[in-house]
Amino acid sequence: MIIDIKTLRQGVSHYQINETAEKLGIDIEDVKFTAPVLSTVAINNVPGQLTVSGRIKSGFETNCARCGCISKGNIDSTFEHKYVNGEAFPGGELNKDALDEEILSRDTLDFFDEIRQAVLLAVPEKVVCRENCKGICPGCNKNLNKDKCSCKPGVIKPFAELKNLLKDTKAKKGKM
Ligand SMILES: [Zn+2]
Ligand SMILES: [Zn+2]
Repeated sequence: MIIDIKTLRQGVSHYQINETAEKLGIDIEDVKFTAPVLSTVAINNVPGQLTVSGRIKSGFETNCARCGCISKGNIDSTFEHKYVNGEAFPGGELNKDALDEEILSRDTLDFFDEIRQAVLLAVPEKVVCRENCKGICPGCNKNLNKDKCSCKPGVIKPFAELKNLLKDTKAKKGKM
């Protein structure tokens, strides 16, 4: 969705956008969106400066970082993006006090870009199915939320197996 800044009225304009993640060009590995991305966006257009602020909501599914089960997550976050008109500052120098501002050098603003960036920031890198998810036992590969494992606490299984293997080999050698 492209906004033509030249014809944008002064002051605040409100928009509501309801698009699927696919349409917005959002593709995050192992994340499946279960709802469209609902965005409410306001543009404040004052001479020389444009402020885009909004709120995004959606839902997604991904794998729990500990046990791998399908876990649901929600997105509900806000964003704000400031643009200054490049012509407002001679020579195109950006005001050093305003590092969060970007120079707006185009006549158009792509809303989908704004929303896409906000969604990418809002999706957490790691999701756990529950706070006390016990994860997968590295020894027996059992899901410890569902099954009890018989691994002895404090014993690192792969190492123990290696010891047994060495014993076996020695025993076999002894017989020879
Ligand atoms: Zn889990
Ligand atoms: Zn185990």
